[in-house]
Amino acid sequence: MPERLSCDVLVVGGGHAALCAALSASARGADVLIAERAPAFFRGGNSRHTRDVRCLHDAASPYTSGAYGEEEFLGDLARVSGQGINERLARLTIAASAQLPGWMAAHGVIWQKPLRGTLHLSQTNVFMLGGGRAMLNAYYAGAQAAGVRTLYEANVHDFSITPEGRFGGATVTVAGVDHRVEAKAAVVSSGGFEANLRWLGQYWGDAVERFVVRGSPYNTGELLAELLEQGARPIGDPRQFHAVAVDGRAPTFDGGIVTRLDSVPFGIVVNTDGERFYDEGEDFWPKRYAIWGGLIARQKGQTAYSIIDSKALVHFLPSVFPPIQAPSVQELAQRLGVDPAAVASTVARFNASVRKGAFDPAALDDCCTAGLAPPKSHWARPIDTPPYYGYPLRPGITFTYMGVEVDQSARVQLASGRSAENIFAAGEIMSGNILKEGYLAGFGLTIGGVFGRIAGEGAADYALA
Ligand SMILES: Cc1cc2nc3c(=O)[nH]c(=O)nc-3n(C[C@H](O)[C@H](O)[C@H](O)COP(=O)(O)OP(=O)(O)OC[C@H]3O[C@@H](n4cnc5c(N)ncnc54)[C@H](O)[C@@H]3O)c2cc1C
Repeated sequence: MPERLSCDVLVVGGGHAALCAALSASARGADVLIAERAPAFFRGGNSRHTRDVRCLHDAASPYTSGAYGEEEFLGDLARVSGQGINERLARLTIAASAQLPGWMAAHGVIWQKPLRGTLHLSQTNVFMLGGGRAMLNAYYAGAQAAGVRTLYEANVHDFSITPEGRFGGATVTVAGVDHRVEAKAAVVSSGGFEANLRWLGQYWGDAVERFVVRGSPYNTGELLAELLEQGARPIGDPRQFHAVAVDGRAPTFDGGIVTRLDSVPFGIVVNTDGERFYDEGEDFWPKRYAIWGGLIARQKGQTAYSIIDSKALVHFLPSVFPPIQAPSVQELAQRLGVDPAAVASTVARFNASVRKGAFDPAALDDCCTAGLAPPKSHWARPIDTPPYYGYPLRPGITFTYMGVEVDQSARVQLASGRSAENIFAAGEIMSGNILKEGYLAGFGLTIGGVFGRIAGEGAADYALA
């Protein structure tokens, strides 16, 4: 490989946003080079783990159960997104999401009916057959056929922004050899910094040693840090992340969707002292699952335990690991490694506080506790039917919120007040413009798809002008 590489458009990253940008730039006639840090088998960042994308649609289809209009979509976003999001960009994303399923299908994505046990998304989200991996395989095949060059194990660094706000080149290290890349425009789609436990440790201290990163180990955010150092305007709170409860036996990186635990609303959750610490039935699980990672991160040892009885076992999709099972609550606690007397007393107090109601997992039912702190507001049933089951829980980090500010053309905004001329950002690295906290399932791919396409087309138009 030559010491110097040149192209019209350099795309950094190999996930959904990057590929949407690369395919769009190539379709405009640009010579595109993708630099993906991961080896080919692990290409595609967190996008590999995805299953569905949230899109505007005005009627039911074979793949969605009903219409999802602009105001409903915006309302859903407003409820979760935090203060100070860019409403113009949010509206743009939502409006443009209507074209995404068609565009993705034209690039090889095959849709399927919603999967069972997927957080009630059948109205709002479309599901990819074969999930994110199949989607990425189709994109990469299309890119190759279109003449897009892809470098794997290609770490981009020394990304330079000139004082005039132009792309001044970058270094890509492949197999230990540095190559300088010159491009007429660049699209940065290198994700967040969720896999950088040292960086997260600045805010969370030693607790990060017990964090589980659900996605790619390659999203360590050094390029984001470089962009910020070079004058890109930051957006989003660096301390915030999206985190769910995952099985404590999950690998530190890349466990993906199958390590998530959805048992919480159907039992109780105790910490290492055997005490409950939050209302497990506060609201529907799709609206609450994303707070449990943070709740567990704040517990001693960043560990908690989900405890259920045999009545509950049928109401959620299990994690990939089998539950720990025992004929009594005490024995279960012993097997989980928590003080049996403390857990037995917590379960006894919980059982005594349960008010009988009509259990309905599909509604905010009237099964709740009385006189218990913290309360359990819904789906509270005595834990009294053996065998008993338990799962160890850890905080599972999905993504970070801090990124770079962009405008509606996906151009990176600079601290000097100007817009970068030919540097674009798409995907997780800029999603903080539209989402500062909370999450709408399937919205990560929406942002990446919409801004990937805008960035790719903008970069190509600039390069070819
Ligand atoms: C388990 C899990 C399930 C999820 N499920 C869904 C879902 O169903 N629907 C949904 O919308 N969202 C989902 N998300 C969120 C979704 O994955 C992200 O919002 C989306 O994939 C972000 O796409 P991206 O292209 O910006 O980043 P990524 O897909 O993470 O890609 C980042 C890329 O940058 C590369 N990279 C990083 N640094 C460098 C560098 N210096 N040089 C070169 N390359 C670099 C990485 O290798 C990677 O290829 C899920 C996330 C996880 C972890």
